Amino acid sequence: MVVGGLGAAWGATVGAAWLRVAIADKEPSRSTGTVAKGRLEHGRPLRPWGQGYATYSFLGTALGRQYVHAAVRDAVEAACAASARREPRRTFVLGETGWPGGGRFRPHRTHQNGLSVDVFMPLVDGTGAPAIPSTWPWNKLGYGMEFDAEGRLGDLRIDFDALAAFLRDLQAEAASRGLGVQKVIIAPEYVPLLLATSTGRQLGKLADVLSRGPAWVRHDEHFHVDFSEVAPARL
Ligand SMILES: [Zn+2]
Repeated sequence: MVVGGLGAAWGATVGAAWLRVAIADKEPSRSTGTVAKGRLEHGRPLRPWGQGYATYSFLGTALGRQYVHAAVRDAVEAACAASARREPRRTFVLGETGWPGGGRFRPHRTHQNGLSVDVFMPLVDGTGAPAIPSTWPWNKLGYGMEFDAEGRLGDLRIDFDALAAFLRDLQAEAASRGLGVQKVIIAPEYVPLLLATSTGRQLGKLADVLSRGPAWVRHDEHFHVDFSEVAPARL
């Protein structure tokens, strides 16, 4: 009975997550203020899963913690789809983004106007095959994983080349939707590892938006992206 009850609760949570997608606002999204102090109007929830990605938490989605500007949603989902075409076994796990109306989003310092996204690091296992980060409640929904200075955790290691390829795709998908990739936060010790990969060496101007200073939390298990609206008139 207990197992049946848990199954029903899980099903209801998944249903609630998808319900947010079904009833989402259709008006054009509007971000105001900054990522650190701002609002979001007519935001959209990330879909709980799609080509090349999955949510970090159905509960998080159901609670409304994965809202973004519509163009950000489209760019992120398209970048995951591009990754899946290149690497079919790769699944990106999308983390927290923000509330439906933006504003203070604890415990994050930013994520306030629908232009911030957390994505968990692409990983490979001991055999070199893509691995999916585990985002369970007991490891703080994935945010509690601790990788060392080389990006290793047990048998798992961060695939910095896959990360570089994803960032390149994300920038292209963002640009075609009137968005720019304004800032990418990863642990500072990972920046040279990322830029040393074959794809990382081709990042061009994207390398300039990699944050090199320490952040409020160490961004080892996930990376954070802030977008900017470079051509709002086109949206
Ligand atoms: Zn973040």
